[in-house]
Amino acid sequence: MTLLVVGSIALDSVSTPFGDRADILGGAASYFSVGASLFTKVRLAGVIGEDFPDEHLELFRSRNIDLQGLRKIEGGKTFRWSGKYVDRMDVAETLDTQLNVLGECKPELPDAFRDSEFVLLANDHPANQLSVTEQLNKPKFIMMDTMNLWIDNFRDDVLRVLKAVDALVCNDEEARALGENANLIAAMKNISAMGPKTVLIKKGEHGAIVLHHEKFFALPAFPLEEVKDPTGAGDTFASGVMGFLAREGNTNFATIKKAMSYGTVVASFNVEDFGLDRLRTLTRDDIDSRHAIYSNFLDVNA
Ligand code: AMP
Repeated sequence: MTLLVVGSIALDSVSTPFGDRADILGGAASYFSVGASLFTKVRLAGVIGEDFPDEHLELFRSRNIDLQGLRKIEGGKTFRWSGKYVDRMDVAETLDTQLNVLGECKPELPDAFRDSEFVLLANDHPANQLSVTEQLNKPKFIMMDTMNLWIDNFRDDVLRVLKAVDALVCNDEEARALGENANLIAAMKNISAMGPKTVLIKKGEHGAIVLHHEKFFALPAFPLEEVKDPTGAGDTFASGVMGFLAREGNTNFATIKKAMSYGTVVASFNVEDFGLDRLRTLTRDDIDSRHAIYSNFLDVNA
C-alpha cells in the first residue's frame, strides 16, 4: 500500500566521539524515506532551499522515492540542525537549529499524494503535522513522531495531532513528558487515552516497547559493539516499522510486532556510520540476513 512521509529534510552538522561531519544530508524525512524504500515505494513531501545539493536528490531518486511533494523554495535556505553526542551517546545535545524554509512554509501535499494510505508525520512543528492530516483523504494508518521542543512549547498543538492519528512514535523521555508520568508504562497508557491506539516508544540501546489497544510488547535492540552516529536512529526505526506495515497492508498486533523487529534491524545499520552513509549502500539482503540473526537472538528455545 502507498506510504507517505512528510517532515524535515536537512543539512546536519554532527559531532560524536568518532568524528565530525558538516552539512551532511539529514532530516527526519530523509532518514525515513531512504530506510522505508527498502520495503515499499515511498512518497516524500517536504521543503528544501536553493542551497540543497543535487547529489542528495540523486540518492532519493536512486531509491525510486516519489519526489512530487518536494518543494524547492526559491531564495530559501534549507533547514539546518547541528548536534553533539558524548560518552554513551544516548542523547543528542542540540547545538543549533535553523528552521529556515521549514519554519516559513506550510507543508502542501500534491493532489497525487492525498490518497496515501500509510502516513508518517515525521518530526516537525505540530501545526504543520495537523495541516497534513487535513489534506489526506481517508488514510488507513497515520503515525506521528514528535520531540521535547514541541511537547514543551506547543503542547496543545501536539494534543490536537494526537487526536488525529492512529500511532505515536517517540523516545522514552518524550513519552514521560507527554504522558505526564515518570513511569513509562503509565505514561504510555495516558498517551493512548489522548488518541493513538498504538504507542511505540524507542529506548535507544534498550530497544523498543509498544502499547497496542491495551496490549504491551517489547523488543531489545540489536546487539552492536560500535555505534558511530546515533542521528536518525528513531527515524530509521520508524521507517522499518511503517515500511513493513505498508508492505503487508495490515496493522494488527502480530504485524506490528514483526514490523518492530524490522525497524530495530534498519536502525541498527543506520547507527554504524555517519548520517545516511550506511543506508546509502544498504540492501534488502543485508536487512534479511541481519533479521535472521536477530530472530535467532530473540529465540529463548534455540
Ligand atoms: P532522530 O535522531 O531520529 O531523532 O532524528 C534526527 C534528525 O532530526 C536530524 O537529521 C535533524 O535534521 C532532525 N531534526 C532535529 N531537530 C528537528 C526539528 N526541530 N524539527 C524537525 N527535524 C529536526
